[in-house]
Amino acid sequence: MLESHYNTVIIGAGPAGMMAAVEAHGSGHSIILLEKMHKTGLKLRISGKGRCNITNEEGMQSFLNRFGKKGRFLKYAFSQFFNHDLLKYINDMGVPTKLERGGRYFCKSDRATDIVVAFEKKLSELKIPIAMKTQVTALAKNDDGQFTAQVRQAGHSFQIMADQVCITTGGLGYPATGSTGDGYSMARSFGHSIVDTAPSLVPVLTAGDIAKRVQGLTLRNVAVSVWDTNKKITEMFGEMMFMRKGITGPIILTLSELLVSMLDHTSEVSIKIDLKPALDHKKLDQRLLREISDHSKQTFKTMLKSLLPLKMIDLFIYLLKVDPEKQLHQITGEERKRVRLLLKEFPMQVIGHDSYDRAIVTSGGVSLKEINPISMESKLTSNLFLAGEVIDVNGETGGYNLTSSWSTGHLAGRSMRNNKLES
Ligand SMILES: Cc1cc2nc3c(=O)[nH]c(=O)nc-3n(C[C@H](O)[C@H](O)[C@H](O)COP(=O)(O)OP(=O)(O)OC[C@H]3O[C@@H](n4cnc5c(N)ncnc54)[C@H](O)[C@@H]3O)c2cc1C
Repeated sequence: MLESHYNTVIIGAGPAGMMAAVEAHGSGHSIILLEKMHKTGLKLRISGKGRCNITNEEGMQSFLNRFGKKGRFLKYAFSQFFNHDLLKYINDMGVPTKLERGGRYFCKSDRATDIVVAFEKKLSELKIPIAMKTQVTALAKNDDGQFTAQVRQAGHSFQIMADQVCITTGGLGYPATGSTGDGYSMARSFGHSIVDTAPSLVPVLTAGDIAKRVQGLTLRNVAVSVWDTNKKITEMFGEMMFMRKGITGPIILTLSELLVSMLDHTSEVSIKIDLKPALDHKKLDQRLLREISDHSKQTFKTMLKSLLPLKMIDLFIYLLKVDPEKQLHQITGEERKRVRLLLKEFPMQVIGHDSYDRAIVTSGGVSLKEINPISMESKLTSNLFLAGEVIDVNGETGGYNLTSSWSTGHLAGRSMRNNKLES
């Protein structure tokens, strides 16, 4: 049974909300966590392919850089609660962690749900109730300084009053997990501006059937460059993967924010994959010449096997239109050049991106200019706090986004705990 008044109401039981609730405890305030879904932390449960990439080993500055220019906003939150604090926190809750390649930390059990269960246990120990299937449909502040949350639960609508409120409703990605952007309209009703939102860390769609022909193939140690017509915009080194209709994988997801915004403004967006980034054009040509002279009786197809992942050979033959059985001494200079160019600049035209349904995070959100980075309190409405993905920060893949949600949730919770409430 819900009370009609709480000192502290936290809206959304994802990582930011659960952390904020735990950290808000301790000064005698009554606290409630409201969650519209039937379970807490649905997105957290599927994070890191169900293993939860909790955080990253990286140092503060390069960690902040993973959020682009907006990383500056997180500096204070991270100075209070950063990667190793988070790991200790999670370990202390009884969930051991492990370090994997790329500085990524995961649950030792490979079960993201362990973290959700640990937070639920902690909240229960602190006697902080979680009202499930309880959706906040509107939020307002009255003349007496109290907040009124309009709430829907089991087909009934009612109001809950609060002295302070924290919005931790997440972004718009994977809406089936409950993140449907509700917090944006709540923030807007207090005059907050919402920086345009877009799917980020999202697979991109490519023209034709090239991706489909090598669907499922992962390329490691490649360099992917992004092109606006004939102008190279950026380049990134790492791992990518082909899907039925496009491409994904760590570097593509990281580049997706840029690609999505370019698609809005640019007529021709493409990427080029450098399959041999360790060799420049000249060295690669020397390598091809060596192959041809050392194995002149071999077939073209056999040479490709020494240069490419198996799954790409037929695709190269199809694109190059060279007879696969042709002997290497018959390969013309022009054909050799085309092989080199395809290896160094494998082109794919980007024609779109997956929707929010497949977006790991949302770019945009509640404007950072209107939030105090030292407390996470709204600069427009006192006693209103915001944390997690609902605010306008989003980072690369690698454990950065969850760290940001937990750190900002931690800071908001502490601020609410220390808030001297009048009633
Ligand atoms: C498939 C996938 C994998 C990911 N993997 C990783 C990873 O390994 N590492 C990493 O760092 N990041 C990862 N992320 C990103 C990360 O999960 C999110 O950035 C993070 O969960 C955001 O936390 P949050 O608490 O701000 O919001 P959310 O996790 O979105 O939680 C918001 C909560 O608020 C509730 N809510 C919304 N509106 C209302 C309302 N009106 N009333 C009541 N409740 C409401 C929602 O139901 C939800 O429970 C992944 C994301 C996805 C989709």
